[in-house]
Amino acid sequence: MEEFFVENAGSTQTVLFAIFVSMLWLMEKLILAQPWRMKFCRAFHNSLFVLSALPIELCCGLLCLALASWVTAHHWGLLYLLPYADNPWVKYGVMFVVLDFLDYVYHQAMHQTPGFWRFHLVHHTDLAVDASTSVREHPGETLLRNAFIFAWILLSGASFELLVLRQTAQSVCTIFAHSAFRLPAVPARVIGWVFITPNLHHVHHHFALPYTNCNYGDVFSIWDRLFGTFVTLPAEDTLFGLDTHLNDESTGTFLGMIAMPFAGRASAGKGFSRLFRPKTNKPDLAKI
Ligand SMILES: [Zn+2]
Repeated sequence: MEEFFVENAGSTQTVLFAIFVSMLWLMEKLILAQPWRMKFCRAFHNSLFVLSALPIELCCGLLCLALASWVTAHHWGLLYLLPYADNPWVKYGVMFVVLDFLDYVYHQAMHQTPGFWRFHLVHHTDLAVDASTSVREHPGETLLRNAFIFAWILLSGASFELLVLRQTAQSVCTIFAHSAFRLPAVPARVIGWVFITPNLHHVHHHFALPYTNCNYGDVFSIWDRLFGTFVTLPAEDTLFGLDTHLNDESTGTFLGMIAMPFAGRASAGKGFSRLFRPKTNKPDLAKI
C-alpha cells in the first residue's frame, strides 16, 4: 500500500488537491453567498483541467521518483555542496527554501518568456478568482512545470521525501492564495511580510500590467521583496482577467482554453499594447 502511494505520489496529490479545492469552493459559495450560476459555470470548466493533469502527473511523478532517488544515491546537486548536508534542518529546512526560490524563478520564466506565457496566460484569463482557479492550468503548462521540476531536482539534489513535503505545503498555499476570501488588513500585512496571502496573489491576477508581473511567490513573499516584484493593491481597485483576452468567449469554455495558446493573439500577450491599453477595457461579467 505504502509503495503504491510512493509510486503514485503525483496523481495521489492531484486527487487530494481536487478534494481540498472542492471543500474550499463550497465554503466560498456558502459564506460569501456568491452567485450560483456564475460560480458553477467557471468551476465546471476549470475542474476539467484536473482530468487533463492526472495522466501527466502520473507519468511525471514516476520520473520525479526515479530522478530524486538517483540524485540521493549519487549525492548529486547543491545539497551535497552545503555543510551538514545530512542534518535534517539543512536537508529539509534549507532545501525547502531553495525549492521555493526555484519556483519563484519558474513563475517569472512563465511570464517573461513568450513561448511559456502562451500556456500560463490560460490561468490568468479567469474573470474571477476562487478555489477553482487554482486547478486552471493548461496541460502544456503542466508539462512545462514538470520539466522545470526535473531540472530543479538535478540542480538541488532534493530527495523524494522533500519533494512530497514541498508539494504538499505548496498546494495548500496555492489553494489559499487563490481563495475568494481575503484577510483583514492587519493580519494580511503581518503574514504578508513572509508568506503569500490571497490579498497579495489577487494583485497578481489584476487584468493589466504592471500588476500581472508582480507577487510571483508561491509560499514565501520574501523573493518578491528581494527582487522588487512585491506590490499591494486594494480589493476595490483589483479587476481579474487579462487585458488581451477580455470579453473573449473562449476564456469561458474548456476547449476554448485548450486552443488558446495556439491562437495568434496569445503571442501579443506581453506586448507594449498591454502597457498602454486603456483601463476602461473591462471584462463583461454578464458573459461569465
Ligand atoms: Zn502568473
